[in-house]
Amino acid sequence: MDQLARKVWIRALLASVAGLWFSVSAATLPSGLSVSISVPQTHIGRADPVVISVTYQNQSAQVVHLLEYGTALEGTVAEDFLMVLQNGEPLPYQGILAMRLPPSSTDYTVLEPGQSITASVDIEASYGVRQIGEYEVFYRDPNIGVLAGSSQFWLTESRPEPVLPKQASVARFCTVAQATAADGALGVAESYARRARDDLRNTPVSARSEARRYKYWFGQYTPARWSRVQDGMTRIYSAASGRRFTFDCACDAGTNRTIAYVYRSRTSEIFLCEGFFNMPRSGGDSQASVIVHEISHFNDTANTDDGPNGVNGANYGQSAAVGLAITNPDRAVGTASNYQYFAANPTGLPMPTSGGGDGGGEPGEPGEPGTEPDPEVPPEPEPTPLILVPIIDLLLGNDR
Ligand SMILES: [Zn+2]
Repeated sequence: MDQLARKVWIRALLASVAGLWFSVSAATLPSGLSVSISVPQTHIGRADPVVISVTYQNQSAQVVHLLEYGTALEGTVAEDFLMVLQNGEPLPYQGILAMRLPPSSTDYTVLEPGQSITASVDIEASYGVRQIGEYEVFYRDPNIGVLAGSSQFWLTESRPEPVLPKQASVARFCTVAQATAADGALGVAESYARRARDDLRNTPVSARSEARRYKYWFGQYTPARWSRVQDGMTRIYSAASGRRFTFDCACDAGTNRTIAYVYRSRTSEIFLCEGFFNMPRSGGDSQASVIVHEISHFNDTANTDDGPNGVNGANYGQSAAVGLAITNPDRAVGTASNYQYFAANPTGLPMPTSGGGDGGGEPGEPGEPGTEPDPEVPPEPEPTPLILVPIIDLLLGNDR
């Protein structure tokens, strides 16, 4: 549905629900109750809370007992009782889904006939209201749909994504030393993935076909392949930074040549074998880059495979990845090692980003948070195979 059609559909739904209002008995809201939404502040800057006010009014002739669960009367958004549109597109609910004890009498607000009550809630975190744009909020009931709409409001400045509290990963069949190593490697992998995501995102479209690091690891530029890589890297970063991983050190399914493995659909488990623990923590071929490689395999991140060179465990290394980028860029953008090395950046090749800091986003993507330096990971250029590099640069037309 395009934006206009969606808005028309929502307005039609709203109109039909408004007409039905008194004849429909809601499971979560008692009948006879009307709901309205207002926005105290229509132009909201970066430091302002994104607050809406919800008014519940008893329009019946009887006393209404309104259960506060899942309403604004809780003072916070604890269920998905709103629909928030950004520039006409619904935002996914990102807030909590609370399971509660059975309500007691104190969990109800009593409204006499004609009486109303208004409560305010901050919706920024629950619906991810962070980008500059036009917003509209609707009150919805899970059983009967949209009940009321707000006037519009505008975010005049975008705001940064929240830093999620990092949850400790879980170690299974690991020694203390192994668990510590895996956790440390995950931390470095996270900063590799963040840098990679930011470098991709902050490269202006006009400069993408000449981005040397991209070309080196993913081959000739096309917009479709770039966007596959950028989306994949964004998801890898999200997983590395926010997912609670289980590291399994039993290595039950591996051979003695296995470094690490995952199952594509078991998206929070990473299996680590002895070879992993013999690697350095950071660098091109390291524990951290292996973690990036393994995370890229998951079917909710970059959904990579091991490429034509990775079959039977042969030729995983940097030269295989570079060769694949040259000969088959369509495969390179779906291959784990190529993400691994682009992120770990062993060659130290630059990307033509438009500069770090605020406003570092490219034109046309206002409000992208800028790049931040990675204090914990100094760039670690490592020599690539000596003979390979000049040949590759020749083939790619790099003026190295
Ligand atoms: Zn792999």
